[in-house]
Amino acid sequence: MKNLFEINEKIRSAADKAMELCRAHFEEIERIKEYNQQKMLKAFQEYHVSEAMFAGSTGYGYDDRGRDTLDKIYAYVFDAEDALARQHFLSGTHTLTVALFGVLRPGDEMLSVTGTPYDTIQPVIGITECSGSLVDFGVRYSEVDLLSDGTVDLEGVKKAVAEKKPKMVYIQRSKGYAQRPSLRNKEIKAICDIVKPLSPDTVIMLDNCYGEFTEVESPITVGVDLMAGSMIKNAGGGIAPTGGYIAGRADLVELCAYRLSTPGTGRELGCTLGTLREMYLGAYHAPVATAEAIKTAVFASALFEVLGYDVEPNYRQRRGDIIDVITLGTPEKLCAFCRGIQSGSPIDSFVTPQPSPMPGYDSDVIMAAGAFTLGSSIEISADGPLREPYAVYLQGGISFATAKISVMLAAQEVEKVQ
Ligand SMILES: *Cc1c(COP(=O)(O)O)cnc(C)c1O
Repeated sequence: MKNLFEINEKIRSAADKAMELCRAHFEEIERIKEYNQQKMLKAFQEYHVSEAMFAGSTGYGYDDRGRDTLDKIYAYVFDAEDALARQHFLSGTHTLTVALFGVLRPGDEMLSVTGTPYDTIQPVIGITECSGSLVDFGVRYSEVDLLSDGTVDLEGVKKAVAEKKPKMVYIQRSKGYAQRPSLRNKEIKAICDIVKPLSPDTVIMLDNCYGEFTEVESPITVGVDLMAGSMIKNAGGGIAPTGGYIAGRADLVELCAYRLSTPGTGRELGCTLGTLREMYLGAYHAPVATAEAIKTAVFASALFEVLGYDVEPNYRQRRGDIIDVITLGTPEKLCAFCRGIQSGSPIDSFVTPQPSPMPGYDSDVIMAAGAFTLGSSIEISADGPLREPYAVYLQGGISFATAKISVMLAAQEVEKVQ
């Protein structure tokens, strides 16, 4: 075989060593993938998916069987009573916004138990002031800070829930740009087990972005009432061109449908045009794409550990999402890493990512993304704010074979920096 990407001897031998370290962990990832993929197949058969369902609808989209059946497929694989799985959601943030505004009413209290939520959710809630936010509409908001090691303060949650009996407890599974571990189902279960007996009417809502299909169980089965995520992350398999999903208790999903379209019409509305075949193919491929992304993350952790860097989580740890954080220590190395990932991408491999200001950040941010779908982060991508500790957030990789090359090129670029 030719050394197609001109990777030097040092990185190639470190990569071989990393692969050796990963082997047993890859087997576990394959086992989870196999179950989730077979569950997806079962869902397709259970609801008699047929080629005619891909035709799509126009106008109001009444009686769109393809659209309505896709909702059922996602409900099935997430063990949920009901789901909305639709291209009408513009992004993960929009999907979460529909769920929050669908459920919460003026005077209700929302309690975040995983500290301050992801950057783009802050104006939605009104943590950063914004006209039209939940707070603007009279929803009260409070949060329980994470402990100093980044884990959930279960004692604090117990106290806050007992005292406030909030309408909603909000959990964010993935770390976002925070330095904290992402949550697995067992940690989500620990929160639900505290909240439910103390306040049975509280709705437990999960931001499940990046968490779908990473484990055998669905968060719904451990006590979550409602969850939401993006179709251009795990849930759309790298094929869905846009969209999001909300899944959970049927009464809550109905409220969300009223917010997505209008009170009264709810889920009956929304034409699908020509997107359904890709939405179905994406659903079908999602457990596979997620497994490839987790393998990429585990490999990256092993490789950068071999090269002497701090990684979170390490390659031995089980994962509840696809994010890998590598602490590079200097702005030069952070930029080098992103250059390497970009140069290993199928699209725009020839461009050089540059740090630039981003709304909501006090430091510049650098991003590498060479994806078929604009902004898709189930495809391999890397980003990080140019501030201490100069950590890069790596995610995605719908094909491990090519994502591995991207990660090796990133390592080679980083090692070139003195
Ligand atoms: C990606 C993400 C979102 C949604 O982001 P979009 O870019 O709007 O899709 C929300 N929460 C977390 C934790 C995320 O990682």
